[in-house]
Amino acid sequence: MGKLIIFSAPSGSGKTTIVRRLMSSIEGLEFSVSATSRQPRGVEQNGQDYYFLSAEEFDRKIEEDAFVEWEEVYAGTKYGTLRSELERIWSKGHTILFDVDVKGGVRLKDIFGQDALSVFIMPPSIEELRNRLVGRATDSPEKIEQRLAKAGEELGYADRFDVVVVNDNLEEAVERVAEVVGEFIAC
Ligand code: ADP
Ligand code: 5GP
Repeated sequence: MGKLIIFSAPSGSGKTTIVRRLMSSIEGLEFSVSATSRQPRGVEQNGQDYYFLSAEEFDRKIEEDAFVEWEEVYAGTKYGTLRSELERIWSKGHTILFDVDVKGGVRLKDIFGQDALSVFIMPPSIEELRNRLVGRATDSPEKIEQRLAKAGEELGYADRFDVVVVNDNLEEAVERVAEVVGEFIAC
Protein backbone atom coordinates (compact mmCIF):
# COMPACT_ATOMS: atom_id res chain seq x y z
CA MET A 1 0.00 0.00 0.00
CA GLY A 2 1.26 3.49 -0.86
CA LYS A 3 0.50 6.92 0.56
CA LEU A 4 -2.51 9.17 0.14
CA ILE A 5 -3.03 12.91 0.42
CA ILE A 6 -6.56 14.17 0.97
CA PHE A 7 -7.73 17.70 0.12
CA SER A 8 -11.10 18.99 1.26
CA ALA A 9 -12.60 22.48 1.35
CA PRO A 10 -15.84 24.35 0.86
CA SER A 11 -16.40 24.80 -2.89
CA GLY A 12 -14.64 27.96 -4.12
CA SER A 13 -11.87 27.96 -1.48
CA GLY A 14 -9.19 27.47 -4.14
CA LYS A 15 -8.47 23.78 -3.63
CA THR A 16 -8.30 22.95 -7.35
CA THR A 17 -6.03 25.93 -8.04
CA ILE A 18 -3.65 24.94 -5.23
CA VAL A 19 -3.57 21.24 -6.06
CA ARG A 20 -2.84 21.94 -9.74
CA ARG A 21 0.13 24.07 -8.72
CA LEU A 22 1.30 21.35 -6.35
CA MET A 23 1.19 18.69 -9.06
CA SER A 24 3.30 20.78 -11.38
CA SER A 25 6.00 21.20 -8.72
CA ILE A 26 6.13 17.72 -7.08
CA GLU A 27 6.52 14.53 -9.13
CA GLY A 28 4.78 11.20 -8.51
CA LEU A 29 1.40 12.59 -7.42
CA GLU A 30 -1.72 11.33 -9.19
CA PHE A 31 -5.35 12.25 -8.75
CA SER A 32 -7.88 9.65 -7.79
CA VAL A 33 -10.66 9.99 -10.37
CA SER A 34 -13.96 9.79 -8.49
CA ALA A 35 -17.22 8.38 -9.75
CA THR A 36 -20.26 10.66 -9.74
CA SER A 37 -23.92 10.43 -10.63
CA ARG A 38 -23.99 14.02 -11.93
CA GLN A 39 -23.82 15.03 -15.59
CA PRO A 40 -20.52 16.23 -17.12
CA ARG A 41 -20.06 20.03 -16.95
CA GLY A 42 -18.48 21.98 -19.82
CA VAL A 43 -15.37 20.23 -21.15
CA GLU A 44 -15.28 17.49 -18.49
CA GLN A 45 -14.22 14.09 -19.84
CA ASN A 46 -15.32 10.68 -18.64
CA GLY A 47 -12.38 8.85 -17.01
CA GLN A 48 -10.39 12.04 -16.71
CA ASP A 49 -12.44 14.42 -14.52
CA TYR A 50 -14.84 11.80 -13.19
CA TYR A 51 -16.25 8.42 -14.07
CA PHE A 52 -19.75 9.59 -14.96
CA LEU A 53 -22.31 6.97 -13.94
CA SER A 54 -26.09 6.94 -14.08
CA ALA A 55 -27.85 6.96 -10.70
CA GLU A 56 -28.64 3.26 -11.24
CA GLU A 57 -25.05 2.34 -12.09
CA PHE A 58 -23.81 4.23 -9.03
CA ASP A 59 -26.25 2.41 -6.74
CA ARG A 60 -25.27 -0.95 -8.24
CA LYS A 61 -21.62 -0.22 -7.42
CA ILE A 62 -22.60 0.64 -3.83
CA GLU A 63 -24.29 -2.75 -3.57
CA GLU A 64 -21.21 -4.47 -5.01
CA ASP A 65 -19.07 -2.74 -2.33
CA ALA A 66 -16.98 -1.20 -5.11
CA PHE A 67 -16.41 2.07 -3.20
CA VAL A 68 -13.86 2.83 -0.48
CA GLU A 69 -16.19 5.69 0.48
CA TRP A 70 -19.05 7.54 -1.10
CA GLU A 71 -21.26 10.49 -0.10
CA GLU A 72 -24.39 12.20 -1.36
CA VAL A 73 -22.53 15.53 -1.43
CA TYR A 74 -25.46 17.47 -2.90
CA ALA A 75 -29.08 16.33 -2.68
CA GLY A 76 -29.59 13.67 -5.34
CA THR A 77 -25.93 13.65 -6.45
CA LYS A 78 -23.49 11.03 -5.23
CA TYR A 79 -19.71 10.99 -5.44
CA GLY A 80 -17.40 8.14 -4.50
CA THR A 81 -13.91 6.69 -4.61
CA LEU A 82 -13.68 3.34 -6.38
CA ARG A 83 -11.40 0.71 -4.82
CA SER A 84 -10.03 -0.03 -8.31
CA GLU A 85 -8.74 3.56 -8.46
CA LEU A 86 -6.37 3.02 -5.51
CA GLU A 87 -4.76 -0.04 -7.11
CA ARG A 88 -4.51 1.70 -10.49
CA ILE A 89 -2.44 4.52 -8.98
CA TRP A 90 -0.40 2.64 -6.37
CA SER A 91 0.61 0.04 -8.99
CA LYS A 92 2.53 2.85 -10.71
CA GLY A 93 4.29 3.74 -7.46
CA HIS A 94 2.47 7.07 -7.28
CA THR A 95 1.01 8.88 -4.25
CA ILE A 96 -2.76 9.32 -4.52
CA LEU A 97 -4.35 12.76 -4.28
CA PHE A 98 -8.00 13.01 -3.27
CA ASP A 99 -10.37 15.90 -3.84
CA VAL A 100 -13.34 14.89 -1.72
CA ASP A 101 -15.98 16.58 0.41
CA VAL A 102 -15.24 17.11 4.12
CA LYS A 103 -17.09 13.98 5.27
CA GLY A 104 -15.27 11.86 2.68
CA GLY A 105 -11.97 13.44 3.79
CA VAL A 106 -12.54 12.55 7.44
CA ARG A 107 -13.65 9.05 6.43
CA LEU A 108 -10.56 8.39 4.27
CA LYS A 109 -8.27 9.62 7.06
CA ASP A 110 -10.01 7.25 9.50
CA ILE A 111 -9.51 4.35 7.11
CA PHE A 112 -5.88 4.98 6.13
CA GLY A 113 -4.48 6.61 9.32
CA GLN A 114 -0.71 7.28 9.19
CA ASP A 115 -0.58 6.44 5.47
CA ALA A 116 -2.78 9.47 4.79
CA LEU A 117 -2.24 13.23 5.14
CA SER A 118 -5.46 15.23 5.28
CA VAL A 119 -5.39 18.92 4.32
CA PHE A 120 -8.27 21.37 4.75
CA ILE A 121 -8.16 24.44 2.51
CA MET A 122 -9.88 27.26 4.40
CA PRO A 123 -11.30 30.37 2.68
CA PRO A 124 -10.55 33.73 4.38
CA SER A 125 -14.31 34.35 4.80
CA ILE A 126 -17.72 33.30 3.46
CA GLU A 127 -17.97 36.65 1.69
CA GLU A 128 -14.73 35.99 -0.17
CA LEU A 129 -16.00 32.51 -0.98
CA ARG A 130 -19.02 34.07 -2.65
CA ASN A 131 -16.76 36.45 -4.63
CA ARG A 132 -14.66 33.54 -5.86
CA LEU A 133 -17.64 31.39 -6.87
CA VAL A 134 -19.19 34.30 -8.74
CA GLY A 135 -15.82 35.16 -10.32
CA ARG A 136 -15.21 31.56 -11.40
CA ALA A 137 -18.45 31.75 -13.37
CA THR A 138 -18.96 27.98 -13.66
CA ASP A 139 -22.14 27.69 -11.60
CA SER A 140 -25.64 29.13 -11.82
CA PRO A 141 -26.73 31.56 -9.06
CA GLU A 142 -28.82 28.73 -7.54
CA LYS A 143 -25.84 26.37 -7.46
CA ILE A 144 -23.69 29.10 -5.88
CA GLU A 145 -26.26 29.60 -3.12
CA GLN A 146 -26.41 25.82 -2.59
CA ARG A 147 -22.60 25.69 -2.24
CA LEU A 148 -22.51 28.68 0.15
CA ALA A 149 -25.29 27.23 2.27
CA LYS A 150 -23.13 24.14 2.76
CA ALA A 151 -19.93 26.05 3.51
CA GLY A 152 -20.80 26.98 7.11
CA GLU A 153 -21.28 23.36 8.12
CA GLU A 154 -18.17 22.29 6.19
CA LEU A 155 -15.96 24.77 8.05
CA GLY A 156 -16.92 22.94 11.24
CA TYR A 157 -14.94 19.89 10.03
CA ALA A 158 -11.63 21.76 9.74
CA ASP A 159 -10.24 20.65 13.11
CA ARG A 160 -10.62 16.99 12.12
CA PHE A 161 -7.92 17.40 9.45
CA ASP A 162 -4.16 17.01 9.96
CA VAL A 163 -3.40 20.45 8.52
CA VAL A 164 -5.51 23.57 7.89
CA VAL A 165 -4.20 26.03 5.27
CA VAL A 166 -5.94 29.39 4.88
CA ASN A 167 -6.02 30.38 1.21
CA ASP A 168 -5.92 34.15 1.44
CA ASN A 169 -2.72 34.90 -0.42
CA LEU A 170 -2.49 32.18 -3.09
CA GLU A 171 1.32 32.10 -3.26
CA GLU A 172 1.63 31.65 0.51
CA ALA A 173 -1.02 28.93 0.54
CA VAL A 174 0.69 27.01 -2.29
CA GLU A 175 4.03 27.29 -0.48
CA ARG A 176 2.59 25.99 2.80
CA VAL A 177 0.83 23.07 1.10
CA ALA A 178 4.03 22.16 -0.81
CA GLU A 179 5.93 22.22 2.48
CA VAL A 180 3.59 19.85 4.38
CA VAL A 181 3.20 17.53 1.39
CA GLY A 182 6.98 17.42 0.84
CA GLU A 183 7.52 16.47 4.51
CA PHE A 184 4.83 13.79 4.38
CA ILE A 185 6.19 12.18 1.21
CA ALA A 186 9.75 12.19 2.54
CA CYS A 187 8.98 10.43 5.84
P1 ADP B 1 -12.32 24.94 -5.42
O1 ADP B 1 -11.57 23.90 -6.18
O2 ADP B 1 -11.98 24.94 -3.97
O3 ADP B 1 -13.80 24.91 -5.65
P2 ADP B 1 -11.08 26.86 -7.27
O4 ADP B 1 -9.64 26.43 -7.26
O5 ADP B 1 -11.90 26.54 -8.47
O6 ADP B 1 -11.83 26.38 -5.93
O7 ADP B 1 -11.08 28.43 -7.00
C1 ADP B 1 -12.27 29.21 -7.04
C2 ADP B 1 -11.98 30.53 -7.73
O8 ADP B 1 -11.18 31.35 -6.83
C3 ADP B 1 -11.20 30.41 -9.02
O9 ADP B 1 -11.70 31.35 -9.94
C4 ADP B 1 -9.76 30.75 -8.59
O10 ADP B 1 -9.03 31.32 -9.66
C5 ADP B 1 -9.97 31.75 -7.47
N1 ADP B 1 -8.92 31.73 -6.42
C6 ADP B 1 -8.26 30.66 -5.92
N2 ADP B 1 -7.40 31.04 -4.93
C7 ADP B 1 -7.53 32.37 -4.80
C8 ADP B 1 -6.91 33.37 -3.94
N3 ADP B 1 -6.00 33.05 -3.02
N4 ADP B 1 -7.31 34.64 -4.08
C9 ADP B 1 -8.25 34.99 -5.01
N5 ADP B 1 -8.85 34.13 -5.85
C10 ADP B 1 -8.52 32.81 -5.75
P1 5GP C 1 -18.17 19.12 -8.24
O1 5GP C 1 -19.58 18.75 -8.56
O2 5GP C 1 -17.97 20.59 -8.08
O3 5GP C 1 -17.18 18.50 -9.20
O4 5GP C 1 -17.78 18.46 -6.84
C1 5GP C 1 -18.61 18.57 -5.76
C2 5GP C 1 -18.01 18.04 -4.48
O5 5GP C 1 -17.87 16.61 -4.49
C3 5GP C 1 -16.63 18.58 -4.14
O6 5GP C 1 -16.70 19.06 -2.79
C4 5GP C 1 -15.74 17.38 -4.21
O7 5GP C 1 -14.68 17.49 -3.28
C5 5GP C 1 -16.68 16.26 -3.84
N1 5GP C 1 -16.23 14.95 -4.30
C6 5GP C 1 -15.71 14.63 -5.51
N2 5GP C 1 -15.39 13.34 -5.56
C7 5GP C 1 -15.70 12.81 -4.34
C8 5GP C 1 -15.59 11.49 -3.78
O8 5GP C 1 -15.13 10.54 -4.40
N3 5GP C 1 -16.04 11.32 -2.51
C9 5GP C 1 -16.55 12.34 -1.78
N4 5GP C 1 -16.93 12.08 -0.53
N5 5GP C 1 -16.67 13.59 -2.27
C10 5GP C 1 -16.25 13.82 -3.54
